[in-house]
Amino acid sequence: MKRRDFIKNASLTGVGLTVGNSLLNCAENSSEKTKKEMTITTNKSKNPIAICTWGFVNANAKAGEELSKGIKALDAAIAGVSVEEKNLKNTTVGKGGAPDREGNVTLDACVMDSNGDCGSVVCVENITNVAELARRVMTETPHVMLAGLGAEEFAYRQGLEKDNLLTEASKKAWKEWLKSPEYKPLINIENHDTIGMLCMDTDGDIAGACTTSGLSYKMKGRVGDSPIIGSGLFIDNAIGGAVATGMGEEIMKTVGSFLIVELMRNGMSPQKACEEAVNRITNKNDRYKDFQIAYIAMNTSGDVGSYCIHKGFTYMKYQNGVNKNVHSDYFIKS
Ligand code: ASP
Repeated sequence: MKRRDFIKNASLTGVGLTVGNSLLNCAENSSEKTKKEMTITTNKSKNPIAICTWGFVNANAKAGEELSKGIKALDAAIAGVSVEEKNLKNTTVGKGGAPDREGNVTLDACVMDSNGDCGSVVCVENITNVAELARRVMTETPHVMLAGLGAEEFAYRQGLEKDNLLTEASKKAWKEWLKSPEYKPLINIENHDTIGMLCMDTDGDIAGACTTSGLSYKMKGRVGDSPIIGSGLFIDNAIGGAVATGMGEEIMKTVGSFLIVELMRNGMSPQKACEEAVNRITNKNDRYKDFQIAYIAMNTSGDVGSYCIHKGFTYMKYQNGVNKNVHSDYFIKS
């Protein structure tokens, strides 16, 4: 890459500078920051809430019901997303997920808990409950991330069962795609999508999980944002959490979920923070017109926000026994 292009790309991306600046601001204003955190902590909600990307009614209801019984946030989030991992009709998560372009289903997932611990697995074959596997990486190894065969072998050692993830329906759709193969990076309501979930439990603690088969018919070995801590998911129990869905490459370039939590740390509402994270992408160039990005976020007071590029993204919110589907605001209005 020529130096000129490198500088252009660096300024378009702006991630390091942006995050760096906000961290610098934090350092400079540390007493102010401490005040803000104290305010947030004082307002800490203890009313359980589960939110998740898209209209995954059953998954979110499962998490919400678990939280209402007093189950901890991480257990509830994993129980919730595993509903979709087992759902054969969901072609973007778990068993039944769309394969890569060579016909192999590979899954990505991560979890993060209220202590700031996390676990992740990428490019895993033959295991359905990869969010649970990510949790085992967190609790049973000294590592954060395991990939491919190593993750799969670890799953068997942990007692997780081997499963064939390619259903007849997914195989048929893949064979159809092979007739005129092309990448379709607009991740939207029709090919919905990765489940990312945030839960707040009765202690006011926040945890989350994100699980996916990734981009349909992806290149072998391609990994998106979903299992990347800070991109697909980030939690800071003193501030809140965020999860992403959509074009993973763009989310990773702006470290979207971490960015949202940092923006909330500096005083933004979850809604404004999601909007700013989308703006970081739409401000770069016009390519955003061809892909979808959506974020959902929650702070310690239980306020929730969401924003996306294209109309059509919805998320689920469970609170006080009510599980409702909410339409997200979006960037492209005309
Ligand atoms: N973010 C996921 C990925 O890029 C895709 C999705 O949200 O469905 O792998």
